[in-house]
Amino acid sequence: MNLAIWLQRTARLNPDRPALFVGTRMMADYRQFARRVRSIAGGLRAMEGIQPGAHVAIYAQNALAYLELLYGIWHAGAVAVPINAKLHAAEAAWIIENAEARLAFCDAKTIGELDRRLPAGACKLVAADDEQMDALHSGSEMDDPVERASADLAWLFYTSGTTGRPKGVMLTNGNLHAMAFSYFVDVDSVMPDDAALYAAPMSHGAGIYNIQHVMKGARHVVPESGAFDADEILDLAAELKNVHMFAAPTMVRRLVDAGKQRETKGEGIRTIVYGGGPMYLEDIIEAVEVFGSRFCQIYGQGESPMTITALPRHTIADRSHPRWRERLASVGTAQSCVEIRIAGEDGHALPAGETGEILVRGAPVMAGYWRNEEATAETLRGGWLWTGDMGTLDDDGYLTLKDRSKDVIISGGSNIYPREIEEVLLRFPGVREASVVGQDHPEWGEVVIAFIVIHADAEVDSEVLDAYCLDNIARFKRPKRYHFLDELPKNNYGKVLKTELRRVLEDRTGQ
Ligand code: AMP
Repeated sequence: MNLAIWLQRTARLNPDRPALFVGTRMMADYRQFARRVRSIAGGLRAMEGIQPGAHVAIYAQNALAYLELLYGIWHAGAVAVPINAKLHAAEAAWIIENAEARLAFCDAKTIGELDRRLPAGACKLVAADDEQMDALHSGSEMDDPVERASADLAWLFYTSGTTGRPKGVMLTNGNLHAMAFSYFVDVDSVMPDDAALYAAPMSHGAGIYNIQHVMKGARHVVPESGAFDADEILDLAAELKNVHMFAAPTMVRRLVDAGKQRETKGEGIRTIVYGGGPMYLEDIIEAVEVFGSRFCQIYGQGESPMTITALPRHTIADRSHPRWRERLASVGTAQSCVEIRIAGEDGHALPAGETGEILVRGAPVMAGYWRNEEATAETLRGGWLWTGDMGTLDDDGYLTLKDRSKDVIISGGSNIYPREIEEVLLRFPGVREASVVGQDHPEWGEVVIAFIVIHADAEVDSEVLDAYCLDNIARFKRPKRYHFLDELPKNNYGKVLKTELRRVLEDRTGQ
């Protein structure tokens, strides 16, 4: 089934329901939204020659046109290739070529730069934010979405590429159906008067989450700024009410800081789904204290989008449970559409409590990497997706993430999980951010090095942190050195770049 059917169905049932907003301004109801999508699909086919299965890239800032293009591409039976707008034009060009996209929608301001990076005639570029789009709308509408099977591709999702070139994760219509259904079962409900607020890049999880909101006929809102601004979000939520958003942990942190400063409790926010990176225990405890029970967590990766585990709001808020803190530090339990296994190196299942690589299988797991058989064979093995994340399951099925397998530090033969040390450091008053990496050492193999960002008015030094660690963690786990930074290097999704920290380390120690 083509997932574009859901939009046309919702629009037939509820044509007058408000659909698309910029800030608090309504720009289209569902009738208009669905009509524009049919017209884009017609234009793609008739004017651009886009056939079912063709790849069409979108390299643009968050905007309502983004949603129209996604559905227009799907309606025409084509495959969307969303590219993070924060990537450099050279990186975007690499993705466009790798994906073999012959047509790409981009912002008018980036079109020249992108054009220069692409071989002549490789890909037609259309500005999604000016009159070039009008031409696309000038033909006749495509009435019904092109038939698509579950196994047909819908989204070619490029990984963030923190370890080399990004890979094109092939997501099918069926993968995205499973993601949407599991959301309703395992994460949260969606109500027709909800407002899905796109504060994180639509090329990623925030954009993928539009699907369940289209199914339910909810509102879709792009902030005026087109980006993440904590004050703007809080103002919008108060006006729009029933706001739903996906946020990386760093965004939650900034929202909570802004909320505290303004003495608001996040009024108007119904749900913040956080994920995509580690949420530290103290941060989520504070977030719930300040904003109340508005949080759910998901753990997923492009290869099983938004769908490995979920930690729903009632578990996050249930302080009466004897293992509440433990559960809050976990990423929850398996979503309904997947099985999870903690595996040893040979793939056999490890018992509860032991740490191994997290394997996943089920309906949302990708079909493979685009034109990359080697990486596909490495990642999809024995019927399982090997996530590269390490974790443990408890007896009740709660999964706790340790770290990416490559981030584990082995010192004197013992495995040290940076996350555990980071959690401890973050509890120290005055420490704002902490990230821990390993550094090669002739005697120990590796030693633990901590990068620390302190609050503006705080006075924290290596000595007090060392004394504090001696009181709180095993000696062998404590950092051997501290580096104080103004901020931690992060990628476009707010994830701390440990590769960058290792580089800083090399520069500072000349290794
Ligand atoms: P991406 O494919 O870019 O979405 O990155 C996925 C990776 O982000 C996962 O493999 C995890 O390492 C990390 N991640 C995703 N969700 C969470 C979460 N809830 N807590 C901690 N790490 C997460």
